[in-house]
Amino acid sequence: MKFNEALKEIKIYEAGKPIELVVREFGIKPENVVKLASNENPKGCSKKVSEAIASNAHKAFLYPDDSMFELKDALASKFSVTSDNIIIGAGSDQVLEFVSRALLMPNDSVLMSQVTFAMYEIYAKQMGAKIVRTPSYEHKVDEFIEAYNEHKPKIVYLCTPNNPTGDATIREDVLKIIEAIDKETLVVVDGAYMEYAAAKDEAYALSPKDLMAYSNVIYLGTFSKAYGLGGMRVGYGIANSPLISELYKMRPPFNITTLSLVAAIEACKDETFVEESIALHTQEISRYEDFARENGFSYIESYTNFITYLFNGNINSTTVSDKLLEEGVIIRNLASYKMNAVRITIGTKEQNDRLFEVMRKVLDE
Ligand SMILES: *Cc1c(COP(=O)(O)O)cnc(C)c1O
Repeated sequence: MKFNEALKEIKIYEAGKPIELVVREFGIKPENVVKLASNENPKGCSKKVSEAIASNAHKAFLYPDDSMFELKDALASKFSVTSDNIIIGAGSDQVLEFVSRALLMPNDSVLMSQVTFAMYEIYAKQMGAKIVRTPSYEHKVDEFIEAYNEHKPKIVYLCTPNNPTGDATIREDVLKIIEAIDKETLVVVDGAYMEYAAAKDEAYALSPKDLMAYSNVIYLGTFSKAYGLGGMRVGYGIANSPLISELYKMRPPFNITTLSLVAAIEACKDETFVEESIALHTQEISRYEDFARENGFSYIESYTNFITYLFNGNINSTTVSDKLLEEGVIIRNLASYKMNAVRITIGTKEQNDRLFEVMRKVLDE
């Protein structure tokens, strides 16, 4: 069979290891597995959301409202935009896929930072596009403008805060990059962790509204992180309506489930849950910073719900991740990003206690 040539260039996305795998491979009881690998919300989701899912379970036989009127309406008022500025995806991942399919032709190029969200590359390569990366993992204005001028990419990805590094780009710099790019190029501002950055430092906060002045920019958000709904697969793109209309041509009908829709609508009504999640996070992340200092390695200042530990030569990220896994603690090794680093989702106090305990043991060995 002859597959699409473009597939040769694609490495399959490596998802965070599931709890089930640790149970199977190491015989650890599921309740003793600590999963800090996929940036899920350690508080779970809002109780109002899980109750709404349960009380609507009998609607599983119904297709969802394909207009997604109520969800778009809730997002429109939350962000002071209109419903025709919004497209809903099965995770913001699916919106990334729409964007890629709507714009890219073979041999086009796309621009992103050196270390960033892996799906940008995968969706672009599916279309036969070439990947251009800036030298740094941080989004540096000069590096982006230089690479943009040299390669004239069809899409520029700005991931702020950035995954898997956790750093963020100050709003002023994001706008400087956008201003330097002409309207033929789409700029994707991926704000999957924006709630955390905005709470930490106002200077890093970007809202979709800030970007509506640019016809060639789309803002992406998700319910998977701060709202704790990774399992429901709901994300969104917000942009000027002509751009959204083009993306709609890529959308399959009923692209999120009836219960996902219920969950996301309910989540929009409970901002207190997000505030509480961020408060817990803020408290716990400082323990991770202390832990790094105590153990003599560094970390990247985080604007997300995870922290990236940078190891020097005497600690190996693969060894650390493998040994933690044997103890039932799942974290993300960044060796595949050519970094001697690990990414750890900030958990509950108890989960973090367990991580520190096991990691101390591993580092002593
Ligand atoms: C998690 C994440 C997403 C999308 O997650 P979905 O679950 O598909 O909404 C997008 N971008 C980044 C940088 C992420 O970390």
